[in-house]
Amino acid sequence: MKKVAKFGGSSVANANQIKKVVNIVKNDKEIKALVVSAPGKRFDKDIKVTDLLIQIYTEYINKSDQYLRTLKDILQRYEDICNDLKIDNSIIIEFENTILSYFENIDDLFYLKNAILSCGENFNAQIINLYLNSQNIKSKFLSPKEAGITLINTMEQPIIDEITYKNLNRFEDFNDILVVPGFFGYSQNNEILTFLRGGSDITGAIVARGINADIYENYTDQSYIYSADPNIIDSPKPVKNISFEEMRELSYNGFGIFQEDAVEPLLNTNINIQVKNTNDPYIGGTVISAKRKDTDKNKIVGISCVDNMISFNVTEYLLNRKSGYTNRLLDIFRYNHISIEHIPTGIDSISVIFKEEQIKSKAHKETLINNIKNTFNLDDLSVKEHLSSIAIVGSGINENRVDILYEIISILKKEKINIEYLIQGASKTSIFIIVENKFSKKALSKLYESLFK
Ligand code: ASP
Repeated sequence: MKKVAKFGGSSVANANQIKKVVNIVKNDKEIKALVVSAPGKRFDKDIKVTDLLIQIYTEYINKSDQYLRTLKDILQRYEDICNDLKIDNSIIIEFENTILSYFENIDDLFYLKNAILSCGENFNAQIINLYLNSQNIKSKFLSPKEAGITLINTMEQPIIDEITYKNLNRFEDFNDILVVPGFFGYSQNNEILTFLRGGSDITGAIVARGINADIYENYTDQSYIYSADPNIIDSPKPVKNISFEEMRELSYNGFGIFQEDAVEPLLNTNINIQVKNTNDPYIGGTVISAKRKDTDKNKIVGISCVDNMISFNVTEYLLNRKSGYTNRLLDIFRYNHISIEHIPTGIDSISVIFKEEQIKSKAHKETLINNIKNTFNLDDLSVKEHLSSIAIVGSGINENRVDILYEIISILKKEKINIEYLIQGASKTSIFIIVENKFSKKALSKLYESLFK
């Protein structure tokens, strides 16, 4: 059995946590590669190193001298880790030189930001590698450059070039434990590109596929993915098994634990993801796999909620007969840089639902409304703000759709919660209910009580 273990920010936030990581590696000979995040929060009010790096980048490009203070803070985080692990801290000077050389040599602000952000994981992986060696564990720091993690720039989430897996395959039977920094790779032109936040999860999946692992262990500070947000629902049921598709649907609708793009490299493989807790590593944890076997028993795996959605509802007599209508409408949103979550349609109307935060100003909203009004011969255009999208997700929904819908609607009727939109059908594993924000917490907890009893 071959495992790749990825450790998230809280698992590598300080020396104490890193010692736990090394213990896990010592006790499990099947772990062949580690993928690590940048140091995360050590306590509630702490700042993640990645956030400090965003700060230093912003200060530097705004020509604020404050960046030198932030540089000290960043380096201090790593120096403390080195000192507490009792390893030589002369590497800190190299870290400082790396950051300063990026500032000096990278003119393009997009690539500069990516390079600065990559430092968080890059430095941490080097320190963890040194510590493993100091504990007589044979390991090798494998930079994404040497690994051949090749990415295609999209200005958003970079796309993984297929060559990456071939490149990584050279390390399939490598003797020593590989220590790979998460979160970044290189473009074909040798520029550093980072993934979106939480993207070390993606590197973990890439390495697992590249070296043909059997299991991708994803260590955080939680043993399980829970069936609902523990901040809203008291002690929600842990999810033991979940499919890739269910996981994506939940992540997409607000579940934070796993980066939603991170399952993509594993979709056509037999590699399962096992969620584990660095602080309690011998508990089973949630298994994420291509297909879930217990759908008969657990039709639904999770319920999630995203507040602050907005809907634009356009009405025009028999718009369904006008070809290209939806296309033209959606183009207006595209030109306004708005990505859409749902598009319920009827004979005379179409609603476009998306996250409110994408409207950047009053003027932006007015432009959007004017663009729509000027393009069509509308009978009506209404905008409704402060909506919440509740997703009920499970592979068992498809075969039990009527029963589940009946249950959902009965609960909402009993609680006198109006449904603004009910979206079901396109995805076979989920049902979305859009309600007003003010009802979302109540709707979520009542639905949870009934569907997970
Ligand atoms: N360090 C990055 C972040 O904070 C990536 C990661 O931890 O996965 O988002």
